[in-house]
Order: sequence, then C-alpha cells, then structure tokens
Amino acid sequence: MVAAGTVRQVVRNASVFDSAAGCMRPGSTIVIEGDRIAAVTQEPLQVDDAARVIDAGGRAVLPGLIDAHVHVVAASHDLVGLAMQPASLVTAQSSTILREMLHRGFTTVRDAAGADHGLRSAVERGIFEGPRLFIAGAPISQTGGHADMRPQGVKSREMFCSCAGLGLIGAIADGVGEVRRAVREQVRQGANQIKIMAGGGISSPTDPLEGTQFSMDELRAAVEEAEAANLYALAHAYSPRAVTRAVQAGVRSIEHGNLIDEATARVMKSHGAYLVPTLSTYAALADEGTRLGWSPAMLDKLQMVKDRGLDAVRIARAEGVPVVFGTDLLGHMHGRQPGEFGLRTAAMPPAEALQSATIVAARLMRQEGRIGQLVAGAWADLLVVDGDPMQSLAMLADPAQGIRLLMQGGRVVRDSLVA
Ligand code: ZN
Ligand code: ZN
Repeated sequence: MVAAGTVRQVVRNASVFDSAAGCMRPGSTIVIEGDRIAAVTQEPLQVDDAARVIDAGGRAVLPGLIDAHVHVVAASHDLVGLAMQPASLVTAQSSTILREMLHRGFTTVRDAAGADHGLRSAVERGIFEGPRLFIAGAPISQTGGHADMRPQGVKSREMFCSCAGLGLIGAIADGVGEVRRAVREQVRQGANQIKIMAGGGISSPTDPLEGTQFSMDELRAAVEEAEAANLYALAHAYSPRAVTRAVQAGVRSIEHGNLIDEATARVMKSHGAYLVPTLSTYAALADEGTRLGWSPAMLDKLQMVKDRGLDAVRIARAEGVPVVFGTDLLGHMHGRQPGEFGLRTAAMPPAEALQSATIVAARLMRQEGRIGQLVAGAWADLLVVDGDPMQSLAMLADPAQGIRLLMQGGRVVRDSLVA
C-alpha cells in the first residue's frame, strides 16, 4: 500500500551490490517508495503506471557511500586560522564541501569533529545539499593534546576554546570531572558520537606522536558518558600503546591507527573495535605539506605514519578487525576523497573496499539496515555506476563520469543515464 502523495520509483535492470555478501546480484529491481527502499527483488515485477521507471541498463547499482572520517568544516588546512573565522563564513564554505562530497557519491558521512547540529539540520531540511551528517561536535582533548591548537606563546585557555567559533579546536578537559562535563556538553549539543584524542597527532604543534593522552580514568569517563547517552566514543590514536588503552577503556573505533602491530590488532578484535584508516590525508600532505608551510617537526611526524598506514590495514584485516572507510582530508585536499579507494585496494579486493564504505561503516555507526545496504526499509541512497566494481573502483575516482545516477533519500541528485 502506497501512502497518498508518496512517489514510487523503480530502478530495473540493475546489478545490485549486495554489501552484506560482498557480491553483485544481476537482474535486480529496486522499488522505492518516498525516501525509502520498499523492496529489492530478482523476480519479474509488474510496475504500475504511476511509478517513475529508471532503467539501469544492466549497470552496477551501489548503496550510497559512507565516509566515516571527514571534517566538513575544514575549509582550510590551517585549523587555527579557521577557528578565527566567523562561524557564518565557515558555514558558507562547509556548504560547498558538503555538496561536493555528495556529488562524489557519499550520501552519508560521519564527521569526526567540527560540524554541529546546525549543519546537520541544514542538510536535513534541504537548505544545503550534502551527505546525511552524523556529528561529533567538538573533539575532546587534554591540555596540550591533539586538539589543543594553541601556539606555545598562548597561555589563556579561553582564547582557543571551542566556543570561539565553528572549527576543529578541541574542548579542552583535564581530570575526570572536566571530561564528563565536556562529553555531556557535546551530548547536549546533539552529538551522534563522541570524539576523543587518545594520543599524539601530526597537525598539532606540541604533542609527541607516540605519546598517550588522557589517563585511563579519563578515557573510561568519556566512554561511560557517551554510553550513558546511547552514543559511543571514537578515538584518534596512532601508537600500539595509545590504541590499546583507548580500546580497553571501551572506545568503539580507532581513527588512523597507522602504527598498530599484531598484538594491538588482537586487543582491538577481542574488544569488538573498528579501525578507521585515513590513508588519503597522508598521501595528500606528503605531496603538499612543505608547500603548505608545515614545520619540519610536523613533516617528520607525517613521514613516520604515512608508510605504515597500509601495513595497519593489512594487519587489521589479517586479525579480523573490521576496517572502515575514512579520509580525514582538509581544505582544498577534499577532492582526493575517492582516491582512498585506490590506496586501499593495494591491501584488499575492491569488493571489500566497497563493503568498508557501506555496510561495515553502517555497523560501526549502529545504522545497519538504514544505510550502506540496498534492502527494504533502508534510505533510498544509491549510485548507478559504469564498470564492474568487483574488478576495479576506478569509476568512483572520476565521479562526474563514473557515477551515472545519484539518488539520496529517493531524490535524484544527478542523472546522466539518458544522455
Ligand atoms: Zn585525528
Ligand atoms: Zn580527523
């Protein structure tokens, strides 16, 4: 029964990517009612006259892609400069980043800090064209941690606090009480997940990459507060020590994780944690870091993790840790987002890389059945693409050509099938 006013659409002659099984189902028909998928079938189907029919011409049809580590407010790689911009300007620039991400085929993204509920609402209301947004709000960082971007000359804690604007500057919290308050504040501001900085980083000025951040009590408090609100925590961490501590504290996903070894991957596996590698940002910064004015110390840190990124993917995969698609690109480097597929297929087959950007990401985000899968009840987010995704994901690297039809929530965003 179709509700009055509900648009019914049918995509037929489709080779559907079954993301749960990791294979194609040729000869499929997808029935869409309103913004949801009503059915996917290989049986012959009587299509009523009122339905809009899209003939995929035997092409591959993929679930809308998910990038589980983006920063849609990162209009610049200069995060301190960004924090000084008025929120209106950051928002205006974010609208472009969001639109371009959607047009690359990413119908959902998990923002790993920066985006707020205003941006999420702007997309939900159709004011901005963009991926569905799952937001973290401000990242939680200890004093001198990865999201404490204050240059050493700046002593004031307030000068760069997250209330200054919209950006990637952290909510600085020290001690269990402050950590609880910082997490609760993100929950109050509508976070879908809580981001904590559990180890050193590359773009931060004063912290050693292989150091750990936060005490175990602070990490546990962050996770406990996230779970109290039915959310989960994700942690930025590179080194085996930082990753192990975060996972033991109950963190659900490790962001980056470049330096993990087998023992660390086994700890992740035993705790049910996910790995979200972000290979493309290291590739981008290796190309451009010097030109962007990065200090020799930051470039040294970059070199340390860049070459280990693919090893981490191989280790995680071998130990059975679920690997999720993420990119972590900043500023003008956002255009490299689909390049992540090419980097990953050096360590996994194309079908698995596609699963990492669909169903595995959905599981991490506790959105299985809603996104990342073409099944009844899911959002009608899909891509009709040229080429065989079981052989190569090259079509996603050139989305303007390779994606022939893009649909989000039943709305056709772009269609060049008939051209
Ligand atoms: Zn990070
Ligand atoms: Zn990030």
